[in-house]
Amino acid sequence: MSAMLAAQDLVREFSVDAGMFRPRQTLHAVNGVDLAVQRGDVLGIVGESGCGKSTLARMLLGLTPPTRGTILLDGQDIRTMDRRSVSRRVQPVFQDPYSSLNPRRMVADIVAFPLDVHGLGTQAERRRQVMDMLERVGLSTRHANSTPGQLSGGQRQRVAIARALVMRPDIVVCDEPTSALDVSVQAQILNLLLDLREQFNLTYVFISHNLAVVEHIATHVAVMYLGRVVEYNRTHTLFGQPRHPYTQALLASVLTPETGLGIPDIGLGLSFPDPINPPPGCTFHPRCAQRMACCDQQAPAVTQDGEALVSCHLYSQTLEQGLVS
Ligand code: SF4
Ligand code: MG
Repeated sequence: MSAMLAAQDLVREFSVDAGMFRPRQTLHAVNGVDLAVQRGDVLGIVGESGCGKSTLARMLLGLTPPTRGTILLDGQDIRTMDRRSVSRRVQPVFQDPYSSLNPRRMVADIVAFPLDVHGLGTQAERRRQVMDMLERVGLSTRHANSTPGQLSGGQRQRVAIARALVMRPDIVVCDEPTSALDVSVQAQILNLLLDLREQFNLTYVFISHNLAVVEHIATHVAVMYLGRVVEYNRTHTLFGQPRHPYTQALLASVLTPETGLGIPDIGLGLSFPDPINPPPGCTFHPRCAQRMACCDQQAPAVTQDGEALVSCHLYSQTLEQGLVS
């Protein structure tokens, strides 16, 4: 069975200005990502700010073209599909409902917009679909006739979710959908997303820097570091038995307060490396408490252990020596 959504060796580079009289430099935002999401799964993608999560999300949505690599939707390369057929099947929910909704339009028009763009249904049918979807996300006629500015943050995110789902997509790519909301509202939105997944048999890619949120919603987790996936596993196993030293440090940091920069203090200093000049070898080595002699020379390959994928010399050696239970 082919994956509903797959990424193969996905790379996205950006050319950045390095200052006057200096050659432009290359920022490696996503640096060789392989992923497979099966129908009905929720793939959580976690990592610190700047690790490439949002760039990966935009590529999966067909909004940012990859520099190299392939994205497959039900086995079909999205480069061979037109933009509209990708967006009919893969819809986004972004972090900031304040900026992603047009402040001058009424909620009913905002939710109807994708149907209008794709020319789906008569006006009466669209209206019916919009009202049905607003009800399913917990909003009413009163909200339909409001502008986003008249709604709370949580209500606005419900509008963004209704707009994504009105197209009846197969996949929803959520990029930090609850990060701008109060904690109590975050839980409501997460539970709404879980209910809607059941109702519509949806598949999610769920991006967050918040591990507790990902543990709550995801069936599988990919941990990203400097543009690469360093560990992938089922959520329960990854949280219960993290294999990569970076995942271990991230989980150990959950109870420490954040710095306000979106960078959790992972107990190894805050020095997040420069994606323009990534460290040689294993890019995590300057911060890794378990690094070995080979770690600053050789990039680790991906080791598969059952469903787990881990990119770490220490882990592959331990596995070879049969020391992992
Ligand atoms: Fe640490 Fe080496 Fe593993 Fe990288 S490869 S995470 S530096 S032990
Ligand atoms: Mg981001």
